[in-house]
Amino acid sequence: MMDRFIFTRYRTTCYNCGEESDQVIKAVPYQAQVICQNCGATRIFVPRIEDVAKAGSYTPIGCFDVWQLVTMAACRHCRVTGPHDLTIGCNHFTVRCRNCDFTHFYKFDLEYIGQCPIEE
Ligand SMILES: [Zn+2]
Ligand SMILES: [Zn+2]
Repeated sequence: MMDRFIFTRYRTTCYNCGEESDQVIKAVPYQAQVICQNCGATRIFVPRIEDVAKAGSYTPIGCFDVWQLVTMAACRHCRVTGPHDLTIGCNHFTVRCRNCDFTHFYKFDLEYIGQCPIEE
């Protein structure tokens, strides 16, 4: 069963370590994650709703750092493999199929630092 839905990366300045590094973006139906490759800072998002939405319906308000990305994915609704709009903000994560407008809406759940180096 192919569970992987979205897998892409976005190079930007990490909010945690302040370095410009790849942020690995993964989403499956039950969870979405953004992970800094440099420091391991991880943000977890959990699904809130799935819906067929009009473009812009979930435009966030008051978030200063929103990433607008486009990635190829196989839509779980219309089954077409094509461009999906990714919108990632401070407390939400949405994936919208451009073919049928089916939208996965995730909300921010928790964050942790994946790599905790121990001083030797
Ligand atoms: Zn980082
Ligand atoms: Zn679709």
